[in-house]
Amino acid sequence: MMLISVVLMMSCNSQPEYKIPCYAWVSGRRQVSDQDMKTQFKDLKEKGIDGILFNGGRNPDTYQRIGKIAHETGMEFHAWIPTLIQPNNPDLKPEWYAVNGLGESAYEKPAYIERYKFVCPNREEVYSYLKEMYGAVADIAEVDGIHLDFIRFPDVILARGLWEKYDLVMDREYPQFDYCYCDTCVSDFKALTGIDITTVDDPSQIEEWKQFRYDLITDLVNRLAVMVHSKNKEFNAAVFPGPNSIAKKIVRQEWDRWNLDAFFPMNYNDFYLEGPEWIGDVCEEAVMALDHQKPVYSGLFICPDPENKTNEPDPEYHGLLPDELEPAIRESMEHGAAGICLFTPRRMTPAHWKVFKKAIHRDYRTESLQAD
Ligand SMILES: [Zn+2]
Repeated sequence: MMLISVVLMMSCNSQPEYKIPCYAWVSGRRQVSDQDMKTQFKDLKEKGIDGILFNGGRNPDTYQRIGKIAHETGMEFHAWIPTLIQPNNPDLKPEWYAVNGLGESAYEKPAYIERYKFVCPNREEVYSYLKEMYGAVADIAEVDGIHLDFIRFPDVILARGLWEKYDLVMDREYPQFDYCYCDTCVSDFKALTGIDITTVDDPSQIEEWKQFRYDLITDLVNRLAVMVHSKNKEFNAAVFPGPNSIAKKIVRQEWDRWNLDAFFPMNYNDFYLEGPEWIGDVCEEAVMALDHQKPVYSGLFICPDPENKTNEPDPEYHGLLPDELEPAIRESMEHGAAGICLFTPRRMTPAHWKVFKKAIHRDYRTESLQAD
């Protein structure tokens, strides 16, 4: 497939045009006809999107139907299905949900918002469920890969840009946002280290307790990786920026140890009250942590209503303005990203697409080398 398109391009042009690999997160929960979906995907392909991370629930049939359309338009197709956040899933039992430092279940009393119902990554039943659910989707021929999301604990510290929204000052770890203190986690940690974490005044000071929880997520990912790879499918994930600067600290993702084929850090600068240049810093951190061995696609958060950004109190509606998009792409590529990923195409305004169309054909890495 790849070879054919290169050859075709060369026949009308002596050198194929440089193009940054571009992915997009696309949600398709509402029922859309095959024809409308094809029109939408064709449009994205023409705009420069090479692969879709598609969220359409948990039914394998959906991924078969939509994946076929994606392939017909010449795009890669990955099933984007949330992992540990499970707000509405009759297949999971309430006792499998994570428990905070106050002993409250995320099922009954979730942190921050109603849908923040996370299951415990340390429950064998949770692993079995995920293995079966992702396995059934990975078996679909039209699916190129499985894309994990919410593969983490609830935020023990919220990104700085969200403090006002939730009226919180998160200067340290507080027990109501700190997971998981379920019986399984507490007893496994005691068996491993001899420490009864429920008797510790400030668990955030116990390094082994942090590492124990990084390892729970890492082990879960790496067990699932064996299953997905055995079906000859790609395995990747949306992760927090870092891993060291942010992901480990606020959601306990030590993702440089995950056995994935590609990483999609959500480099959503506005959530951290940072500008596009920060995206370069976190891309560099990511590729260094992975020792340049795995591709990093820099996740970019797009502002859906640029005119209103300064009046908009909710950070969910902030994001890159059209004139910040080019620096965001440039910073990503100059600092080692293999490509970019848009959150989301639907949020892109005509002005964003205009900037995007030009930027994705610039070879920023070579340009920056020549400038040195
Ligand atoms: Zn637990």
